[in-house]
This record gives sequence, C-alpha cells and structure tokens, in this order.
Amino acid sequence: MSYRKDGALEKKGDSYYHQIECASEDEIIKIQEEKLQAQMAYLSKNSKLYQQKFEKAGIRFDEIKTLKDLAKVPFTVKQDLRDSLQAAPPFGLHQTAPLSEIVQMQASSGTTGSPAYVALTENDIEMWNELSARGFYACGVNPGDFVLHGFSMSKGFVGGIPCMQAIQYMGAIDVPVGADGGVDRLLRACADIKPRVIIGAPNFLLHIASMAPDILGKRADELGVERLVVGGEPGGGIPAIRESLEEKWGAKVCEMMGGTDLGVIYWAECDEQDGMHMICQDHIIVELIDPETEQVIPFEKGVTGELIYTAIGREASPVVRFKSGDHIVVTDTACSCGRTGPKIRCFGRTDDMLIVRGINVFPSAIQDLILQLQPDTNGVMRVWADFEGHTTQANLKVLVERGIDRSKEQDQELISHVEQTIRNALSFKAKVIVVDANSFEKPGVAKVALTLREQPGFLTLDDEGAQ
Ligand SMILES: [Zn+2]
Repeated sequence: MSYRKDGALEKKGDSYYHQIECASEDEIIKIQEEKLQAQMAYLSKNSKLYQQKFEKAGIRFDEIKTLKDLAKVPFTVKQDLRDSLQAAPPFGLHQTAPLSEIVQMQASSGTTGSPAYVALTENDIEMWNELSARGFYACGVNPGDFVLHGFSMSKGFVGGIPCMQAIQYMGAIDVPVGADGGVDRLLRACADIKPRVIIGAPNFLLHIASMAPDILGKRADELGVERLVVGGEPGGGIPAIRESLEEKWGAKVCEMMGGTDLGVIYWAECDEQDGMHMICQDHIIVELIDPETEQVIPFEKGVTGELIYTAIGREASPVVRFKSGDHIVVTDTACSCGRTGPKIRCFGRTDDMLIVRGINVFPSAIQDLILQLQPDTNGVMRVWADFEGHTTQANLKVLVERGIDRSKEQDQELISHVEQTIRNALSFKAKVIVVDANSFEKPGVAKVALTLREQPGFLTLDDEGAQ
C-alpha cells in the first residue's frame, strides 16, 4: 500500500476523477447488482447484525439480487447501530472482518451519547480515499495543491485524518492545522504557505475570514485562496452564506457531503455550483425515500426526500439500507460537466428537525431567511426549543440578533417583519425575540448548534416578557 494513488499527478486536467462518475445508468445498475449479491453473501457469513435482522424480517440473503429486491430489506436506523455497538463493543455485531485485518477506526460526532465507532480494513481505507478524492477533485482540488485543513483534526472525526489521507492519496498536500489548531494558526499558515484550497465548515471559514484583518493585517481575499471546499453542515448550500464566503475570500465555493457510517465524501459539487453530484455509485447504493411513506422514489429534478445508503464491497463495518437522516432536494439530473450522478442540496437532518404544529421545520431554513434579512438583522439566529423532544404545539421561539446599526426602539417593527417572513416562507408561526448583535458565540471548532435547549444566560425574563 502506498500513500499516493498510482498515477495521481496525471489526473490534473481530467474532467472527472473516475469514469464511473460519467457512466450510464445501465452500466451503474449492472455493477451495483453484481456487488450487491456479493455483499449479501458476505453478510450472510459474517454479519451477526444482519443475520438477526434478515431472520426477523423473514428474508434470505440470496433473495436480494437486484435494486428492486433491496427495497424489501428493512432500514437500519442509528439506534440499531448504537444497540449493535453496545452488544459487542467496540465495533458491534456489524463488525464483519477479523480484528487482525482492521487497520484504522474512526468515530462519528454522535449528537447523543457516546460516539459510534467504525472499523476499516486496508481495502476499506482505499475505498474511502478513492471516494473522497473524487469528491475533492469535483470540488476543484487538484493534484499538487496545498490544502489548508480547516475541519477538526481530532476526536476521530472523518473530516480530520480521513480527509488528510484522501488529499495525500490524490497527490495534493494537506496542511494539517485543523479547526482545533485555532483561527490564529490557520491564518498564519494561510499567509506562510499560500494554499490554493481551504477545506472546512462554512460558518467557521466565514469566521476565519472576519478575523484576517486583525490577525494578519490584511483581508482574506488578499491571501490568494482560490477554492473553498465546505461541508459538515448545510451552510454551503445556503445562498447567503455561500455569497458571503465567496466575497470575503475572493474564492469559489464548492460543497461536499458524506458521513461516517459509509465513508467520508459521497456527494460533491462541480464547477457548475448548482448541487452535489453522487460520486460513489460503485461503492454505495443510494436510494431516495419519501419520509412519510418510506417508499423509494426516483431521483428526479425538484423531488425531495431522505437518503438511504447501502455499502457494497465494504469489509469491516458494512451497513444495509442505512437511514441517513439527510433530507435533500434533487437540483438536477443532468450536468454540463459530464457527470451522470444526480445533483442534490441537503436542507436539513432528521436530528435537527422540529415539528411545529405538524409542520416540519429545519433550523437551517430559518437561518437562511435571517441571513437574507441583513442588515436589519445581524444574520445570526437560534431556535430556543423550550419543550421536550422535537414537537411543539406552541409558536416556535426564534432568537434573532438585531442589525448592528439598529436601535432597540425599532425592535417591534423588526419582530413583525421577521415573523411575517417566516410565516410566508416556511408556513409556521414563530415568536421572534430580538437580542443584541453579537450575543451568540461565533462558530469555532464545533458545528454551530442552531437549536438551544436552555434559556441563554444573557436573556432575562424581562426581555421575553416585554415582547
Ligand atoms: Zn456537474
């Protein structure tokens, strides 16, 4: 095994990374169904989790031969994996390769409880590297580029070491500072090394840009960065955040998306910048389901749904019909770049979703509106979910930072305006509470949590009562 893919440097200038990205549907289905059958045979021998699951559902592994057959298999939800991990630590009942062949592990960020651990064999790492390299390449990273690492390098997150490995695999050079290294260190590396690319969470890269004048004495757009590759949160797909990033850095923004359970990057945006292509079809089967009926629906322009993933060819921690919780809209199914994988935007995750009097509400959608209402707002908001669970029958409390040049006396007018905008765009009733500009922490290493479960310390009951 070598660190860099054979012939990595010769890819520069190619219009895609792997020919599968441009393959016809028939070609893809043929590969997927062959690998699906092999994966089922592998699971029937090696996966205690799926032996149990299939038996319970009354299906046999050798019945699952086609994509249509796959739809008969029950979903694997996050709780299934948590239970599996707990029943047989550290890698669970879905560990299917012997420990002697496992060469690496990673951990999910785990919004609740302990993180979920995944295991990788050497072949699994190579597959992860290959998919991420395709993704980075689609997003504009070239062999030979210096890539400043702005995702967290620690805690076993896939934005850290696995991204670094993929950058190395594709013949680029990772500058391994990491979000954990701090804004100061990242900006200094940017000035010293002059990377062509920065990767990181969109809100964090915005924050770094805003600190550049103080720390370096120059603006971010004077640093020569040409590309920002963003992911880890939906911001890169939110027009106001993207525009602001491109303007502040003077660089083109492309977005990518993946996870921990199947790989690192499975979706990536090309130069057209109108959605992320599926780039993983020879290693992951992706299905789209209607969240209400849970039936498979086709990837057609304008359709929304939740993504379901099945690993094919995975050795160590394979999952079948994994319910990702990613809610997406299909932005297109054709592209001038030649890639044939459908293009999507992710507009929220099941984990973040709130239900306000029966209406599904994603906090990132509210943030998008608040950003558009600048400079009346400061572009910053939090949902204050002062109820148990995810469902409320009351008006949803939304804390909005007042625009920097506005006075408190104009708050009532701002409240009406924001509440009306939310009702028109998202069909639910919000109770808006205006707070001072810069009340909330700026994004750091962690993702910005848009939903608060506790009343923020600076908000007195008087503030609330006054509304
Ligand atoms: Zn494209």
